[in-house]
Amino acid sequence: MTARDTIAAVATPRGEGGIGVIRVSGAATASIARALLGRNPTPRHAHYCAFADADGAPIDRGLLLYFKAPRSYTGEDVLELQTHGSPVVLRLLVARLVELGARHARPGEFSERAFLNGKVDLAQAEAVADLIASGSETAARAALRSLDGEFSRRVRALTAGVVRLRVWIEAAIDFPEEEIDFLAAPELRADLAAARTDLTGLLEGARRGVRLADGLHVVIVGRPNAGKSSLLNALAASERAIVTEIAGTTRDLVRETVEIDGVALTLVDTAGLRESPDVIEREGIRRARAELERADVALLVTDADGDAEADVALLADVPAGARRIVAHNKIDRCERPARREHRGDDVHLWLSAKTGAGLDLLHAELRDLATGAGGDGAWTARARHVSALERARTHLGAAASALVERNAGELAAEELREVQRALGEITGEFSTDDLLGEIFSAFCIGK
Ligand code: GDP
Repeated sequence: MTARDTIAAVATPRGEGGIGVIRVSGAATASIARALLGRNPTPRHAHYCAFADADGAPIDRGLLLYFKAPRSYTGEDVLELQTHGSPVVLRLLVARLVELGARHARPGEFSERAFLNGKVDLAQAEAVADLIASGSETAARAALRSLDGEFSRRVRALTAGVVRLRVWIEAAIDFPEEEIDFLAAPELRADLAAARTDLTGLLEGARRGVRLADGLHVVIVGRPNAGKSSLLNALAASERAIVTEIAGTTRDLVRETVEIDGVALTLVDTAGLRESPDVIEREGIRRARAELERADVALLVTDADGDAEADVALLADVPAGARRIVAHNKIDRCERPARREHRGDDVHLWLSAKTGAGLDLLHAELRDLATGAGGDGAWTARARHVSALERARTHLGAAASALVERNAGELAAEELREVQRALGEITGEFSTDDLLGEIFSAFCIGK
């Protein structure tokens, strides 16, 4: 490891009262700590001291914590100063640290160093940012699981399986004179099939992880007067939901971000989907359809007394990956009980936005969609991970057909190399400076 220059930054977000934390990392950290403390700091020991400026005048009093490389967040010598959270104090102290040889850190630079020094892999470093940005309890817990390496472990286990397959196939190519045709071995086929199953599971988990981190995007559709706004209000106003106002971005789509049972949901109420000669309404419908294209869940509201089948046709534009829920609303008018039923891939719920009957069924459905049934063990992921896994799946499929249909070992080995590469992009074994720049620049300063 080469000694990198020393960086310093305030690690607590601006405007946060109480405690202020400043972080320092790099080669000059020990000498900076010595200058502040007046003696050598004891690693992992809280020193209470006065932080003084160049003339010896105190700026603030607080705690000084020194972590010796490599046992620190970044893997370098790290110093953390806990002071009072005044922006003035923090600014003066950072200026003092700069005088003592540090420079201002760029956003995400501490986490980037942690990654470059092998303290965390790329997916774990991203989970740091996801944890900070998490908008709900479930997302925070899931981000922590990713940070602990839950996602990375699965990616590594899959990579190890792919490497074993590659070694096997390459050995079979290198020794073609062997009596037995190793490429036709049932164990090889079985391992390949198992890897494909694992990859599909991982991809599903990652898609769920993205939904968790971003919040489930629920688009409410249905004919005018079906009760869409009422249902949105009922969901947003229910005791278990915390409502955050987000200004509607258009006059036609009403958006609410709510947290239900610890899961963040963005609810979008669309203009009634129907053909209309009115220009403004047509624009609303166009936006509703565009919104549907990026829905995680399409929630169709229909009248429990009406023609549900005809309304289900409104879901024709829902993308293949999105889940569909049909809410048969207004059961209070026809005195039907609240209930849940599976019809094909769709879930049908009978409820009333007015009386609240059956809303608990809808809550449970949305929560399970966000976290996976059971809700435990979910981890966060990003769109970049999903696309890498999709690429890995394509190459793994190609490897399987090369092997099984054409007995083409060389080609299969080549495809497996691509699988390995795609998986390596997730954890950062294969990464470019551009990618790293893009990932870490989205972090906050001081992280
Ligand atoms: P939207 O056009 O789909 O957004 O429908 P609204 O939410 O504006 O509701 C249309 C009408 O149906 C309003 O008069 C609501 O009060 C009524 N409504 C909505 N949900 C229910 C329900 O569960 N039961 C009853 N009886 N009326 C409802």
